[in-house]
Amino acid sequence: MKFILPLLLSCSFLADSLLLPATATSSQPSLFAFTNVNVIPMNSEALLKNYTVIVRDDKIITVSPSSETEISSATQVIDGSDKYLLPGLAEMHGHIPPSKRTANMPAYFDDYYVKSTLFLYLSAGITTVRGMLGYPGQLELKKRINNGELIGPNLYLAGPSFNGNTVSSPDQAKERVIQQQKEGWDLLKIHPGLTLAEYNAIAETAHSAGITFGGHVPQDVGIVHAIKSGQKTIDHIDGYVSYLETFEGPEQQTKLDEIVRLTKKHDVWIVPTQALWKTIIGAADYETLQEYEELKYIPEAVLNNYINYVDNLENSAYYDPVNAQGHADLRQHILSEMNKAGVKILMGTDAPQLFSVPGFSIHRELPLMEEAGMTPYQIIESGTRRVGEYFSSRDNFGTITVGERADLILINHNPLEDISHIKNHEGVMVQGRWFSRKIINKKLNEIKSYYNE
Ligand SMILES: [Zn+2]
Repeated sequence: MKFILPLLLSCSFLADSLLLPATATSSQPSLFAFTNVNVIPMNSEALLKNYTVIVRDDKIITVSPSSETEISSATQVIDGSDKYLLPGLAEMHGHIPPSKRTANMPAYFDDYYVKSTLFLYLSAGITTVRGMLGYPGQLELKKRINNGELIGPNLYLAGPSFNGNTVSSPDQAKERVIQQQKEGWDLLKIHPGLTLAEYNAIAETAHSAGITFGGHVPQDVGIVHAIKSGQKTIDHIDGYVSYLETFEGPEQQTKLDEIVRLTKKHDVWIVPTQALWKTIIGAADYETLQEYEELKYIPEAVLNNYINYVDNLENSAYYDPVNAQGHADLRQHILSEMNKAGVKILMGTDAPQLFSVPGFSIHRELPLMEEAGMTPYQIIESGTRRVGEYFSSRDNFGTITVGERADLILINHNPLEDISHIKNHEGVMVQGRWFSRKIINKKLNEIKSYYNE
C-alpha cells in the first residue's frame, strides 16, 4: 500500500530502558486462579456462571464451577465476582515497527516505539497480532516475546512485502518465496503492483513450499483469480469493490452473491479493516478522528503524518473523491453479505496506521462490524476462536478451555450484551502473565509522558 511505507518509515533513536522491563511480572507465581467469574468460553455460545479458571505457566489447566474447584495455597487469586472472562483478542492485520534501524529511517523508529507499540496492543486486550509487513530482525523480536524476554502479544509475522518494487520477474518471485519460507516467516504479504505472471509464480511456489499468502489483491490479478488461486486472507476486502463497481443495479447484487459464494467455497478468510478504509477513501469525519484520545500515546511525527494524509487526501491512490460515502456503504454491504453467508471474518484494523492507534483501533472497528449485522458473539468470535482456527497448525488458543494458551481479558460487564464493554476491562493476561488495570494504566501514563514532554 503506497502510503504505508512513508508512515511506517517515518522518529529519534532514544533507547529507553524504563519502559516495560522484561521482568515486570517474573516475581509473580506461575499459578493464577480467576475465581467466581462468568466465563465466555467461545467454543460455544454458553455463558458459564460462577466458574474458576486456573492457569499454570502459559496454559489454562482448569475450567470448572467454583463450588467444585480447589485452589492450592501457591495460587495467586484474581477475584472475578460479577466480571466476565473472555479469550484475548487478535489484531489480524497489524504492524510491528522495524526493530533494527537502517539508513533513512525516521528518528522515531527506535526501541521505545517498538516496545510501546507492543504494549499498546496488549493494553487494549490484544494478545495476538498477525504482523502484516516484515522487517529485518523481526523474527528475532518474535522469539524474544515468545520466550518471555520481552512483553507483547503473541506474534505471527508476514515477511517483507511482495509488490511491484520488490518483485521483478516470476523467477525472482519464486526465489523470494522459498527464501522467506526458509527464514521462518509465517506467511507472505501481497501488495499491489504485481503482474499476473508474478502472482501466479508466488501462489504456485507458496503452495508447494507450504507457506500461505495474504493481503491485497493486485489489479492485474483481480478478486476472482485471487480467490481461485488459494490466497488465504483477503485484507481490507480488497478487490471486491472495484470488481462490483463494473456492474449496476440488481446485476451488482447478483455478482455480489456469486463472489461471496466463491469466497466461501474457497475458504478465503476476510480481514475487513472497515474503520481504516473509511478514513482512506475520504468517508470519515476527520474532526472526530483528530480528537481521538489515544493519539496521545503515539509520537508527534506519526500524528503529523496522519494529519498530512488528510490534508493531501486527493494524492492518495485509494481516495474516492466522487462517491466516498457510497464506497463505504458498499464495503459495509459486502461485509454484511459475507457474514450472512458464513464467510470467515477475522478482526483487524491495520494499526498503526491513519488514526488507528494499536489496540485502541480494534475498539473503533467493532461498532462498524456490528453496524454490518454481526452479533456481539460473531464479532468476538472473529478475534478469538476464528483466530485460533486460522493458526490451528501452530498453537492452541482462542477459547477458554483446558490446554489452551492463557490469553485472557477480565471484563467488568457482559460484552455479549454490549460489545463496547470490552474496553472496560480489569486486566489482560498474555501467555499466563497478568497485567492488572493498575499496571496497564501506569504504563500507558509512562508512554503518554514520553511522547508529550
Ligand atoms: Zn497493513
